[in-house]
Amino acid sequence: MNSDIQKLLGKNRKWISKTVAQEPEYFKKYSGPQKPAYLWIGCSDSRVPAEKIVDANPGELFIHRNIANMVHQADLNILSVLQYSVEVLQVKNIIICGHYACGGVKASLETADHGLIDNWIRSIKQIYEEHRDEFDGLADDEKADLLSKFNVRRQVYNTARSSILQKAWARGQSIAVHGLMYNFHNGQLEDLSCSIASHSEVPDIYRLH
Ligand SMILES: [Zn+2]
Repeated sequence: MNSDIQKLLGKNRKWISKTVAQEPEYFKKYSGPQKPAYLWIGCSDSRVPAEKIVDANPGELFIHRNIANMVHQADLNILSVLQYSVEVLQVKNIIICGHYACGGVKASLETADHGLIDNWIRSIKQIYEEHRDEFDGLADDEKADLLSKFNVRRQVYNTARSSILQKAWARGQSIAVHGLMYNFHNGQLEDLSCSIASHSEVPDIYRLH
């Protein structure tokens, strides 16, 4: 085994010792059935550790992360996570969390070839095109941050328009989708005020009964 993995295993053993010393029943306390109230859809960026930034304990967040916190309509991975968390876990809130200085969003503003990932982030370029006038005069970093916010809003829309959310609202299930932005320079989470909590906030054409 290489030293990097040994280092991780060593940190794990230290964490167990420290945790049990502070709270002897910790693992027993958090090993029952899960009933998280939140589904968190965030970026894979290592500087955006979902549980840490909201000080969550085990069992509080059901988490899906991918590059640039995308909710693609034909991505079996995100659709499976959505279905399970909405229909089985019955989460009350879905959070799409973007972040400032997102590498995936920055890459979408470039014309360089990044490989396969250019397909994953291509729809972010489309958002840029739709809002092109709003980027005039901004520095590159500012463009990326503004585009990250637009992207979060778009992923909130995409989630709300999915068959899973449409059927949940048709059944009368209480569930809302929210958009947040994280700043890893100061730890702050910002509400983008783009929450969608019902059928009525989504155009009729997406409704399913
Ligand atoms: Zn990112």
